[in-house]
Amino acid sequence: MRRRTGAAARAIAFAAWLALGCSPEAPPQAPSPEALAAARSPGASVILLSIDTLRADRLGAYGYPRPTSPALDALASRGVRFARAVAESSWTLPSHVTLMTGLLPTAHGVRHVRQRPPAGLPMLAQVLGRAGYRTLAFVDGALLSGFHGFARGFERYEDRDKNLRETLELARQALDALPAERPYFLFLHTYDVHCPYDPPPEYALRFRTRPPEDHLETAGRCGKTDFNAMALTRGQARFLSDQYDGNIRAADDTLGEFVRWLDERNAFERTVLVVVSDHGEEFLEHGTIGHKNNLYIESLRVPLIVLAPKLRPRVVESGAGLADVMPTVLDLLDLPAPPTQGRSLLPAMLGASDDAPRPLPSQLWRAEGELRSVVAGDRHLILDTRTGDVELYHLGLDAGERLDLSWLARGSRGELLAALERRLEQPIPVRAESTGGLPADLTQQLRALGYVE
Ligand SMILES: [Zn+2]
Repeated sequence: MRRRTGAAARAIAFAAWLALGCSPEAPPQAPSPEALAAARSPGASVILLSIDTLRADRLGAYGYPRPTSPALDALASRGVRFARAVAESSWTLPSHVTLMTGLLPTAHGVRHVRQRPPAGLPMLAQVLGRAGYRTLAFVDGALLSGFHGFARGFERYEDRDKNLRETLELARQALDALPAERPYFLFLHTYDVHCPYDPPPEYALRFRTRPPEDHLETAGRCGKTDFNAMALTRGQARFLSDQYDGNIRAADDTLGEFVRWLDERNAFERTVLVVVSDHGEEFLEHGTIGHKNNLYIESLRVPLIVLAPKLRPRVVESGAGLADVMPTVLDLLDLPAPPTQGRSLLPAMLGASDDAPRPLPSQLWRAEGELRSVVAGDRHLILDTRTGDVELYHLGLDAGERLDLSWLARGSRGELLAALERRLEQPIPVRAESTGGLPADLTQQLRALGYVE
């Protein structure tokens, strides 16, 4: 637990205590059934792009002052940007299973690299395939491999290790070859932003603020315990963070070319596009580098941008999770959704607001035990289920989560713990499937990314 002392901390604590006590009251404005129907696009194609490890606050559209993301910013200004999207876990596998099933990690049960979702669990590609969609995926392998169950429902699932440029080139070729009369679901995923923070040469110097002596090689070190525990200097962490920004800009420029290609085909007139990430990234804010370490906000806040033919641009302030993506996409297409623990964001995308901040849970299983977290509006509570320790932050007043208020705001703490329990309590009972041993080539990919030692 971190506690600050001094007048500034006391002032923040007092303001936070006042703010924690009250939930902003906004009258819910449910859109009419006619308005909802008019916003749907039955038969539209769907492109779902997951940019792995992309922190929301590193994008211009989310307030970052560096020019890391002109293409994503342009998409955000054309579509609906969710300002407060939260990932349900702080690493790739459980988060992507949530994205594709609409179930929280506690329900789908996928907690470590030797698990995959059970065969009977409906995944987005299966639902769309049954509705007559062509289903294609070009992903960057490792945890997104078919081995981990993600290929289910896809007629083509290309999961070899590759960069975003190759991924999008394959996607262009595949879309060109598709007959125009049937809609498609295209799932795209990239690790280009993920550690190693090693941008292409033309991007390596773009955001660098540190001298060469702070240079730190990350290839082969991602996710390693010794790397996370290394006594990195602030300068070295800053160096890595600058490189991460270079990775983002490189991926963004590549994405920009793909968006221009889609625009030339007027694809957005008949396509729903969802851009999302599976978790954020840490640069020593709370003592570690990378992700899968904890549930602080830098690991959880992700971009979520939705474009659809009949949706007008908007910024949505109410909370959203990855579990909402499947019900939202199916609602936009006017297709029935299987039971999920998310909800359709279509009303929010038409301006409806919640009467109280919606609790958004996240979970992480570590060797030391399970961490749980809940974000509700500006409040973020983290629970260590092994020790019972609780931390509570006010994101509006303390975006970096440096002042733990759990000792001060007992009422808020109890309220959020109860909300967390309620959200995790609605399990749709399934049990993750064991994958058994990992194939050698997959183990190698996972080692490079830091998911196995
Ligand atoms: Zn990831």
